Amino acid sequence: MMTIETNLQHIHYEITEICRECERDPSNIKLIAVSKTKPCFLIEQAIDAGQTIFGENYVQEGVEKIKYFAAHRPDTHLEWHFIGPLQSNKTRLVTEHFDWVHTVDRIKIAQRLNDQRPTFLNKLNVLIQINISNELTKSGITPEQLPQLAAQMSNLPNLVLRGLMFIPKAENEFKKQRETFLKAYDLYSELQQKIAGIDTLSMGMSGDMNAAIASGSNTIRIGSAIFGAREYN
Ligand SMILES: *Cc1c(COP(=O)(O)O)cnc(C)c1O
Repeated sequence: MMTIETNLQHIHYEITEICRECERDPSNIKLIAVSKTKPCFLIEQAIDAGQTIFGENYVQEGVEKIKYFAAHRPDTHLEWHFIGPLQSNKTRLVTEHFDWVHTVDRIKIAQRLNDQRPTFLNKLNVLIQINISNELTKSGITPEQLPQLAAQMSNLPNLVLRGLMFIPKAENEFKKQRETFLKAYDLYSELQQKIAGIDTLSMGMSGDMNAAIASGSNTIRIGSAIFGAREYN
């Protein structure tokens, strides 16, 4: 039977293999376990297997889980990433509870996350989401909008702009996946030249993590390959 522990071992093995092929150091790849729609007892199994970094898409659900583990596992330090679309009326809850936000796509959202960040917390780590495949259904800015938004955001004292996040159009072929990821990597390196402290390129999910790592990703967001398929109702 597949368990969360064996799934995690398998992902770590795959990361090691792809890193060997492209001569990268596997310890430079951050693995975010995407636990959206999954109950706390499954997240707990991942924690018991050593996973401490989690991603959530829905504000209310994510905040409930963060509070649950703060109460039930007070000695286990967990890092929580908000990776879902963010409306401006939900920024307060997000900035009060999460450590990272991957989906900033306008200055209004960044400004609110900044203004509402509690002073007793560390600065909020943020990524700008770019809609690299230009899909109407996806959020994110265009590459052309990046310089301006990045410059505006780097003036916000309670945020740290750490890099970029991408969700490319789903493709089955490694070669096609890689083409898009390499474009993403170019945007990331350009931003690194301009702004100090840019160190995070968030791209790669269960279906395309190998191509993402081979193209320079250092943060992958893996859901179904760890927790199994999601059921929505
Ligand atoms: C759900 C989700 C993931 C994980 O997707 P899987 O295909 O299950 O690995 C990663 N990133 C984002 C933004 C998601 O919404």
